[in-house]
Amino acid sequence: MRVRALGLMSGGLDSMLAVRVLMDQDIEMTGITFQTPFFGPEGAQKAAGQLGIPLRVVDIGEVHLEMLKNPKYGYGSQMNPCIDCHALMLKTAGGIMDAEGFDFLATGEVLGQRPMSQRKDALRAVDKLSGYGGYILRPLSAKLLWETVPEELGKVDRQKLMDIQGRSRKPQMTLAAHFGLEEYPSPGGGCILTKAGFADRLRDLLATQEEVGLHDVELLKCGRHLRLPSGRRLVVGRIHADNLKLQELAREEDLLLRVKGVPGPTGLMAVRVSAREVELAAGIVAAYSDAETGEEAIVVVSGKDDREITIAVRPKEEFRELLI
Ligand code: SF4
Repeated sequence: MRVRALGLMSGGLDSMLAVRVLMDQDIEMTGITFQTPFFGPEGAQKAAGQLGIPLRVVDIGEVHLEMLKNPKYGYGSQMNPCIDCHALMLKTAGGIMDAEGFDFLATGEVLGQRPMSQRKDALRAVDKLSGYGGYILRPLSAKLLWETVPEELGKVDRQKLMDIQGRSRKPQMTLAAHFGLEEYPSPGGGCILTKAGFADRLRDLLATQEEVGLHDVELLKCGRHLRLPSGRRLVVGRIHADNLKLQELAREEDLLLRVKGVPGPTGLMAVRVSAREVELAAGIVAAYSDAETGEEAIVVVSGKDDREITIAVRPKEEFRELLI
């Protein structure tokens, strides 16, 4: 019977090569990729299309967020819990492997490529935490690593695997040329959890809000965030796409604010705030609109009960200290 493996795909070159190396051994490959608010399947979909293999997209948003609040191996340079994140992906893929009779899992990890998460001890930690240790094959560095179950069983020819390590991309580019892979993204350096600005916001959210759910994280990706005196947040769109996203994200209990008849941002806030804070929020939304400073503006507040607030427009600099 033909050997079947699940290849974890990020959309980057390494995971494409890992799959391609195994396809060369006539192993039947299926790609698997994951969806959370911090990364999505788009790159992997393109990569799987190029390789001509089917791809599973698995939403792990909820469980990933829970892990992110308290990762066993901590964070990388920002809010990226890479060891726990890899382990979670492999654990999820391992469950599918068990349920559907795949022979093993493959990843594009390269020994020593990332200083924290791809050292040998970190790879061991990922194996252990995932619960699928012997079944995780890393074709690009396999000859430098411990033998896995599919190698022991002769399902994979270890001699045909690679011994790439370190941060240089040259071996991967040579291999890509060998396989005729011409289109692949340049290394991206990780998901948005590795980006300083977003990581700061997330750290602040986790430190100041007791319950953090996927909705809060989606909001975090949007617009400016200001903290009102009660501690509640007002999100104000920066660009048109933010305004549309905020309208889409607004729940029944939220308030949406916008200035009537003047181009400007949409604001979103939780309804459980005092009338004074709604007025403050209206003032902020007006300040960020095209309404003339010193003139009067009408702010439409939509929620359970729609209403309008007439307000004197103040300069947005006055609200700067509320920015998170
Ligand atoms: S960079 Fe992001 S997606 Fe990649 S392992 Fe780290 S936390 Fe997970």
